[in-house]
Amino acid sequence: MTRTIVNPADGKVVTTVESSTIEQTDAAIARAAEAQREWARLAPADRGRMLRRFADAVDGAVEELAALEVRNSGHPITQARWEAAHVRDVLEYYSASPERLFGRQIPVAGGLDVTFQEPLGVVGVITPWNFPMTIASWGFAPALAAGNAVVLKPADWTPLTSLRLGELALTAGLPEGLFQVVPGAGSVVGERFVTNETVRKVVFTGSTEVGKRIMAGCAEQVKRVTLELGGKSANIVFADADLERAAATAPYGVFENAGQDCCARSRILVERSVYDRFMELLEPAVANVRVGDPNDESTEMGPLVAREHLDRVRSFVPDDADVAFRGSAPTGDGFWFAPTVLTPARDARTARDEIFGPVVSVFPFDDEADAVGFANASRFGLSGSIWTRDLSRGIRVARAVESGNLSVNSHSSVRYSTPFGGFKQSGLGRELGPDAPLAFTETKNVFLAVD
Ligand code: NAD
Repeated sequence: MTRTIVNPADGKVVTTVESSTIEQTDAAIARAAEAQREWARLAPADRGRMLRRFADAVDGAVEELAALEVRNSGHPITQARWEAAHVRDVLEYYSASPERLFGRQIPVAGGLDVTFQEPLGVVGVITPWNFPMTIASWGFAPALAAGNAVVLKPADWTPLTSLRLGELALTAGLPEGLFQVVPGAGSVVGERFVTNETVRKVVFTGSTEVGKRIMAGCAEQVKRVTLELGGKSANIVFADADLERAAATAPYGVFENAGQDCCARSRILVERSVYDRFMELLEPAVANVRVGDPNDESTEMGPLVAREHLDRVRSFVPDDADVAFRGSAPTGDGFWFAPTVLTPARDARTARDEIFGPVVSVFPFDDEADAVGFANASRFGLSGSIWTRDLSRGIRVARAVESGNLSVNSHSSVRYSTPFGGFKQSGLGRELGPDAPLAFTETKNVFLAVD
C-alpha cells in the first residue's frame, strides 16, 4: 500500500510513500535489536561522538529539512528552519549524555553497592503530524544516547522529514539498523510496536484517545511507556498585567503552527475589570497575524495540515458560533482557516475539547480563585501562561495550575534543556531536560561482597 503526500498550501500531490507491513515492521525491530547489542558495547565517548556527527549532518541539512517540512506540513519557512535546527540542538545536547549516565555508590554494610543505568533495548517512537521532526528527536536522541536502538513511526500525513533524518543518520555513520524510520499506518506499524515483545518501550505523542489505547496495550507486557497527549491550556491575564503585551502576544500563544500545537493557549481567561480593554487590544493583534504562503519569509501562519483536519476544525465554528472577531486567510486551494476568536460559555464544547486549529475562546473571570478553578476544570494539563506584574501572584498561580509547563509573562513551553510533559490526561512521563535519558534505562543495583 502507498500513501499519497499532499502539500497543505495548495492541495497538490508531493510524492507517495510506501506503507510498511507487519512483517516489515518485525524485520526492522529484529535489525534494531541486533544493532543495539553492538551500540551498547561501544565506549560511551564513541557513542557521544557519533551523535555529534549525526547533529552535524542535520546542521548541514537545515535548509533542506525545512523546505521539506514546508511542502509536507505547510509550516512557515522561518518556523520550519527553527524546527530543523532544534533537532540538531537536541542531538548535540544528548550527545553529552553517554559519558554522564552516572550510577550511584550507596553506603551499605559488608561490601560495595553500585547502580548502573542499563539501556532498555529497542525503543519504538510514534509521532504525530503537527511537529514531525522535533517531536521525533525528543524520543530518538535521548534513547540513542542511553544505549538503545530506535524504530520511529512518523504520522501518516507527514513522514518526509523523519525519513530524511533516517538517511542522515546513516550518512553520519550511525550503524545500520540502529535508527530506522518505519512509515505506515498506526493500526499496523504503531500497534506492532506495542505488541512485539522485542520493543521494550513505546514513546507516543498524539491524541489522548490513541494514547490510552497504547497504554492499555503496553500493560499486557508491562512495557514502559511515555505519553505526550492533548491539551486545552489557559492563558490567564490579570488586571495588573502589561495588557498591551499580553494582548499583542496572545495570538502567538495559540495560533502558532495554525493552532496545531499541543501547548496552544486555546482558552484566554481575562480578569473581568479589564476584559473589554483586552478585547479591544486583541482584535488588531489577531488581524495582524500574517497568514499565507508558507514559503514567504514574512508568513507567520500557514494552512492546516489536511482537508480532513480542516473539516474537523470547521465543525467547532458553526454559523451560529459566538465569534467575536477573525483574522484573514487566503482563499482557494489549500487547507486555510482564518484565526478565530470565540466567546463561548464555559461549558461549551469549544471551551472543553482540544480543537487543534487557530481557534481561541476568551472568558472573563472574577478573581484569582475563579481563574485557577476554571484553568483546572479540564481533563488536560499540559501548558499555560500567567500575565501579572505581581511576582508573588505569578508564582502562586503557577504553583496552583495543574499543568506541566507554565510561563509567567511569556508563552514559552519548549526548551530542550528543560523537562516537558503533561499532568492528568495530557500525558505520562517527561521528555527533554537533563533527565530524559534516564527514562530510557533500567536501574540495576549490584552488591559486591568485601571479605
Ligand atoms: P493521533 O493520536 O491520531 O496519531 C498519533 C500517531 O499515532 C500517528 O503516528 C498515528 O499513525 C499513530 N496511531 C494511530 N492509531 C494508532 C494505534 N492504534 N496504535 C499505535 N499508533 C497509532 O494524533 P495526531 O492527530 O497525529 O496528533 C494530534 C494530537 O497529538 C493532538 O491531540 C495533540 O495535542 C497531540 N500532541 C501532543 C503533544 C505533546 O507533547 N503532549 C505534542 C504534539 C501533539
